[in-house]
Amino acid sequence: MMNAFIACLAACLLHEVCSASTPVSWCYHRPSCSDAVWSIIAEKDCDGTQQSPIDIVTADVQANTNLTAFTFTGYNDRATLTEIENTGRTIKVTFGDQKMYVEGGDLPGLFNSTQFHLHWGNGSATPGSEHAVNGKRYPMELHIMNEAGNGSDPVLSVLGIFIEASNDTGKPESWKTLTSYLAQIASAGDKTHVSDKLTMDDLLPGVDRTKYYRYLGSLTTPSCDEGVIWTIFKDSVKVSQDLIDLFSTTVYINQTTNSPLMTNTFRAVQPIYGRIVTSQVAGPKTTGLIKPTSGTKTTGFVGNPTTGLITPRSVIKTSLTKLTSTATNPSLALNFPLLSAVLLYCILPS
Ligand SMILES: [Zn+2]
Repeated sequence: MMNAFIACLAACLLHEVCSASTPVSWCYHRPSCSDAVWSIIAEKDCDGTQQSPIDIVTADVQANTNLTAFTFTGYNDRATLTEIENTGRTIKVTFGDQKMYVEGGDLPGLFNSTQFHLHWGNGSATPGSEHAVNGKRYPMELHIMNEAGNGSDPVLSVLGIFIEASNDTGKPESWKTLTSYLAQIASAGDKTHVSDKLTMDDLLPGVDRTKYYRYLGSLTTPSCDEGVIWTIFKDSVKVSQDLIDLFSTTVYINQTTNSPLMTNTFRAVQPIYGRIVTSQVAGPKTTGLIKPTSGTKTTGFVGNPTTGLITPRSVIKTSLTKLTSTATNPSLALNFPLLSAVLLYCILPS
């Protein structure tokens, strides 16, 4: 009994040491790791001055005649969408290697499209788009990720498309097909082959891809790398509310039986810091005397303004459970094996 107690104490101490040396992984749902503290817990650019997403204030948008039409390659190819995955933070669809490209639209060269993923809120209760237009956020936002240049330090470009809710049921057909996979990838780490012949074009009906906003920003998840060329299309894809709801009711953020559902997977809008958003046409003229509130940082989370670095109860509970099972396992009740087990516990990723 005494051995077990001493071992437990050692385990507790070692756990603290081990935890301190492991970077805290970011999340959307807990105050201790949500976007409010990414600039503290995640190194690199999360507190930079060119962060995404932003609120696009249309009155401040300036005309840019270089924003010509894009050329999309492989976006109508039925063999390009290969795999759909629950990453624990989003739902991601991977494209076949070197099969899809985008160029034009004032992008510096040919960009390889690698994947798309989604951001959403909580059904019809909370909008989940990352970008906003004049303060308005949409139910969801789709990001097509593109890269150009050499593999180690590529230039990144993201195409962002808003998803708006329609009153239909099960529409459009392409999104009914896409969401039909969600039940197969309910837990984090689950992935499955996309066997239906979906194309990227199928998933973007009704979007005029010659009308868009352009600005320089960042990745919207840690490490928030800057220098990302953002394109936000003005038109949205209309998807029926029942299909939108499937995202916040079907997939979970980890593999445990009591895992929270994956909801509110978006970062709050970031200060614009003097950046200029451009488009094919300028916004209405402004007096220039008073800046709109686009520079105000908001949390984007409803009903949970806590931002302090507090160890969440769930983490403490998990640690206790692991320690208890270690201490009560008879084969580990002897000091030396127990110490080995404790060290193993520290080495293994939690
Ligand atoms: Zn994204």
